[in-house]
Amino acid sequence: MFKALLLEQQEGTTSASISEIDEALLPEGDVTVKVSYSSLNYKDGLAVTGTGKIIRQFPMVPGIDFAGEVVQSADPRYQAGDKVILTGWGVGETHWGGMAELARVKGDWLVPMPVNCDAATAMLIGTAGLTAMLCVQAIVDAKITPDAGEVLVTGASGGVGSTAVALLAKLGYQVTACSGRLEKNGPLLTALGASQLLDRTELAAPSRPLEKQRWAAVVDTVGDQPLATALAQMNYGGVAAICGLAAGYNLPTTVMPFILRGVSLLGIDSVYCPRDKRIAAWTRILELLPASFFEQAGTEISLEQVPQYAADIVQGAVTGRTLIKVQ
Ligand code: NDP
Repeated sequence: MFKALLLEQQEGTTSASISEIDEALLPEGDVTVKVSYSSLNYKDGLAVTGTGKIIRQFPMVPGIDFAGEVVQSADPRYQAGDKVILTGWGVGETHWGGMAELARVKGDWLVPMPVNCDAATAMLIGTAGLTAMLCVQAIVDAKITPDAGEVLVTGASGGVGSTAVALLAKLGYQVTACSGRLEKNGPLLTALGASQLLDRTELAAPSRPLEKQRWAAVVDTVGDQPLATALAQMNYGGVAAICGLAAGYNLPTTVMPFILRGVSLLGIDSVYCPRDKRIAAWTRILELLPASFFEQAGTEISLEQVPQYAADIVQGAVTGRTLIKVQ
C-alpha cells in the first residue's frame, strides 16, 4: 500500500482526500519511482479544485511533476537507486501523478537527476522553472541581448514568473516585473533581480493597436488583455515568449505589432518538450539560478496541505514555488 492524494468526482464535484492505495492499482509503465517531492503548479491547482477540465478520468492522483528514486525498472536506461525527475507528458492529468509515495511511468518521460541537484531542489524548480527556462532560452535564441532594452515578466510573483525574473536577471537583462501584488511581493521581486516593478493594472486596460515602444522581450504567464497590451508596447523586432493563461486564454490583439514592428510571438510548451531540450534546460537552470532563489521563492508543504494551497494558487494568492514533501 502507498499513500496518495486521490481525486474523485461525484455529480460533477471534485473531492481530494489522502488515501492508502494498493500498489497493484498503479498505472502501466516501465519504471516505478519512490517519490520524495512533488510541487504545486497552477495546473495542479486547477486539477485539485476541479476548476477547468484538467482531469477527465477519475479516480486520479494529481501532480504534474515529481522527483525521487527508481525502485523497479524494465527500462535498461534506469536501475533501482537512480535519482530521476519527471515533468509533463500528461502525468497528473491522464496518468497517475506525483502527489503519491509511488508513481509508475514510462522511462521515456524521465530525466536523470543532474549531478549537482537533489529532489527538493528539482521540485523547487519543477514544471514552472523548466517552463521559465524555456521562455528565457527562446528569447536568447531570438538574439535579444541584454543591451536591447527592458524585458517584461507578467505574473511575476508566480512560479514561472518569479523563476523567469531570477534567470533573466542572472543573464544580465533589465527585468520589469509586473504583478498584482506589488505591495506584498515588490521586495521579493527586487531581491530576485527585477530592476523595475509594474502594477498589473497598467496592462489591464484595452490598448491602442500600437503604443509607445517599451519592451525588448516579454515572458508572459497570464495571456488575455495584459499580453495584448504588452504586445502593443513592444520594441521593433521584439519577442514575446508566452506560456500561460492565468488571466485568461483570450488574446484581444491586432496584427499591427507583428506586421508593422516585426514582433514575434513564440509559444512555449514544457509538457511535450523533447527530451534533449529538457535535459539541456535542466543543466542551464542549475547553472543560472542562484542558491538564494530557493530560500527566497520557495515554500514547503505536506500532501495534507495541498487542497488549501490548490485553492490559493487558483485565486492567484500563492507566491513563488510551492514544494510538496511526499516522504
Ligand atoms: P502561479 O499561480 O504560480 O502564477 C501565476 C501568476 O499570475 C500569479 O501569481 C499572479 O501573479 C498572476 N495572476 C493570477 N491571476 C491573474 C489574473 N487574473 N490576471 C493577471 N495576472 C494574474 O502559476 P504558475 O507560475 O505555475 O503558472 C503560470 C501560468 O503558466 C499558468 O497559466 C500555467 O498554466 C502556465 N504554465 C504553462 C506551461 C507550459 O508548458 N506552457 C507550464 C507551466 C505553467 P501576480 O500576483 O504577481 O500578478
